[in-house]
Amino acid sequence: MRAPQVFKRLALIGTGLIGSSIARAARAQGAARSIVATARSPATRRRVAELGFVDQVVETNAAAVAGADLVILCIPVGACGTVTAEIGSHLAPGAILSDVGSVKTAVIRDMSPHIPAGVHFVPAHPVAGTEHSGPDAGFAQLFVDRWCILTPPSGTDVAATERLAAFWRLLGANVETMSAEHHDLVLGITSHLPHLIAYTIVGTADELSQVTRSEVLRFSAGGFRDFTRIAASDPVMWRDVFIANKDAVLEMLGRFQEDLAALTRAIRRGDGDTLFDHFSRTRAIRRGIVELGQDSPAPDFGRPHPDLPQEGLPRPYSVES
Ligand code: NAP
Repeated sequence: MRAPQVFKRLALIGTGLIGSSIARAARAQGAARSIVATARSPATRRRVAELGFVDQVVETNAAAVAGADLVILCIPVGACGTVTAEIGSHLAPGAILSDVGSVKTAVIRDMSPHIPAGVHFVPAHPVAGTEHSGPDAGFAQLFVDRWCILTPPSGTDVAATERLAAFWRLLGANVETMSAEHHDLVLGITSHLPHLIAYTIVGTADELSQVTRSEVLRFSAGGFRDFTRIAASDPVMWRDVFIANKDAVLEMLGRFQEDLAALTRAIRRGDGDTLFDHFSRTRAIRRGIVELGQDSPAPDFGRPHPDLPQEGLPRPYSVES
């Protein structure tokens, strides 16, 4: 594979979990000659400067994008339109503008009107994350062996798309390209609906009167604990995701409610065959995810076990060229 062309100046707007991980990985891999970053609040900008994973921290979005040949918005999806309106006239001709938002159709709709001719807009979504937020939460290996989905609108410059794909591959990700609409449907079922279920079930447990909160916490290993991890995800980010991906989430939620009704009926009727068939099918899906390298085969969701290799911990950094 041809060596990817290194960017001269990478500008990151937003330096939370994703932005700071991009900065750390880009620096570790030499994917940009210099990295400039900004964040909304002075406190985050100060912390980014202290952590030292970028070359320059600036106060305004306009100052960040000046002269940058790659600009990535790493902010909640609901803020992408406003920020693009602010930076549009400051973008350098020929620059690539991208984002990392978890929803693509709404982000493209909100950003596109503010992007001047001659700037290449290549939306992206790295499907990698944790439940933590902020610049301290990021790490260079976050994207290794994870997928990054590009959703270039029709007519996007192919060379710009390929250049951004090469950037993400250098950071360790596998790259897939699809339409924004398809992305939103796929992520609706693989990510957005599971988060909604986790937020719901943790809230339901919290409101139970017959089971005390201390019992919920003590006996959480019975499945609940893994929901609490997902339900600890950033409230601003997820509020924006559900509002921005309303149609796809409602579609998936409708299907989910039908399937839940079928399982409810099977339990009420004591229909063990239906339950067994359903659980066998879902077990096969879990095995498929492990076989594709998207999770650890270690028991208990990779929780470190004294007698097992610690496969759930961040893996060593390795990138194929
Ligand atoms: P995060 O850790 O909370 O960081 C968000 C960053 O955006 C912070 O630097 C924050 O600045 C800035 N910001 C927040 N609101 C803003 C606004 N209204 N205008 C301008 N800047 C604003 O969030 P994250 O997890 O990195 O998520 C960022 C994006 O990545 C989201 O679009 C999300 O959908 C996407 N994403 C997240 C994950 C995940 O698992 N977390 C995975 C893939 C993609 P201050 O700190 O100064 O407030």
